[in-house]
Amino acid sequence: MKHTKIKDLLCCTSTLSNVTAKGWVRTFRNNQFIALNDGSTINNIQCVVDFENTSADILKRVTTGAAIAVTGDLVESQGKGQKYEIQVTKLEILGDSDAEKFPMQPKKHSLEFLRENAHLRVRTNAFGAIMRVRSVLAFAVHKYFQDKGFVYVNTPIITGADAEGAGEMFQVTSMPLDSLPRNEEGQIDYKQDFFGKHTNLTVSGQLEGETFAMALGQIYTFGPTFRAENSNTSRHLAEFWMIEPEVAFNDLDDNMDLAEDFIQYVVKYALDHCVDDLKFLEGRLLEEEKSKPQDQRSEMSLLEKLTFVLDNNFKRVSYTEAIDILKDSTPNKKKKFQYLITEWGADLQSEHERFLVEKHFKCPVILYDYPANIKAFYMRLNDNTEPGRETVRAMDILFPGIGEIVGGSQREERYDVLVEKMKKIGIDEEELWWYLDTRRFGTATHSGFGLGFERLVLFVTGMTNIRDVIPFPRTPQNAEF
Ligand code: ATP
Ligand code: MG
Ligand code: MG
Ligand code: MG
Repeated sequence: MKHTKIKDLLCCTSTLSNVTAKGWVRTFRNNQFIALNDGSTINNIQCVVDFENTSADILKRVTTGAAIAVTGDLVESQGKGQKYEIQVTKLEILGDSDAEKFPMQPKKHSLEFLRENAHLRVRTNAFGAIMRVRSVLAFAVHKYFQDKGFVYVNTPIITGADAEGAGEMFQVTSMPLDSLPRNEEGQIDYKQDFFGKHTNLTVSGQLEGETFAMALGQIYTFGPTFRAENSNTSRHLAEFWMIEPEVAFNDLDDNMDLAEDFIQYVVKYALDHCVDDLKFLEGRLLEEEKSKPQDQRSEMSLLEKLTFVLDNNFKRVSYTEAIDILKDSTPNKKKKFQYLITEWGADLQSEHERFLVEKHFKCPVILYDYPANIKAFYMRLNDNTEPGRETVRAMDILFPGIGEIVGGSQREERYDVLVEKMKKIGIDEEELWWYLDTRRFGTATHSGFGLGFERLVLFVTGMTNIRDVIPFPRTPQNAEF
């Protein structure tokens, strides 16, 4: 018999006879009540077993984690918290689960333990919810851009362009390691590793994306990105997904407008389509908050935070203003804020970013016009800046609890200025001949940004560690499977 998704059964508006549901047992109480989940929703369906007419052998095999099929009538439930339940007439064990050994017994597991069991953690309520929210957000990303007429472009994953990612790139080789050519000191000569060419895994599809924007007008990429980050922060992964729109004839202001509108759209989409999962995650967070001291508890619940982002414009602040705020906000009395002091020209640390967002403005912030020497070579130099204090048309979007979630800029469209800048920092013109072609043939103002998809999922789910919002996190500790 065809089975029905539990989500659809729970949405029914009337009783039904003879339905079949398939799923995994969450709990089995009193030899009678099975809480069954099939992954279609956070909610379990209660299945009431006729234990007097079911063999003891079958009942014994209804254990947490087992896959089963139940058939029976969908009837109104007397129990609390559910409208309907299945009065089981046929119970079939599809796959046993050794309850003694099944690691996902319903109890509170530490996130570290769950990370070590990434293949099974998705059987828990929290990870099922996070992965459904992630999937809906991915769909919303495509929907937003497709509805606006952007062209989806797949930029290469293996690439020879390495101008951007100094020190952060995974090398790609086509040969067995022991047959790679070596230099006189015996070190591998990576310059010859991919069929005789030097290649890496992409750190960003932007440069390639720009070439397509300068033909198709509005494009976006959404694909895996790799950075050999040997750091152990809660917001960096070695493999993450990046969304990178690029738009011809758009300047930095247009770029900020696009980024803000896009983020608000996808957050709203999640609120409209994942409310059960988000409410579950909110409840989980509220429980966690209770164990914190009063003054460290969040002022807003998860749904309030998400709604706040929809209802409030992001605060736009120049880098220079931000530095002034950070200097003014550094009280001498409170030692823990000493780190806030920073000088014009320095890159902001995540503590600075989070101070601006969480303590000062108390809303998402777009910082723009950064010093040229801390940003990438391709960003548009601002006209009329003081010598020694040159700034570029760059912007970062900073979010509460996370810090940077978007990095974007208007690109330097002037061939001569771009080449001059590349020379200064030692990038060979020949290496990027194809990129420079966009400036040779029909150059124009254009801009774009990169948004780390997992940082967006972090914000929407209220989770605090990026390892918990991607199915199989790649970090220095997690690459076994
Ligand atoms: P950060 O300052 O956090 O290291 P970045 O400035 O190096 O980020 P960009 O090169 O600006 O990052 O990349 C654009 C976006 O990609 C970032 O704003 C962030 O959302 C995301 N991102 C960058 N590095 C990572 C990473 N290692 N893991 C997950 N997301 C990342
Ligand atoms: Mg970085
Ligand atoms: Mg950064
Ligand atoms: Mg950045």
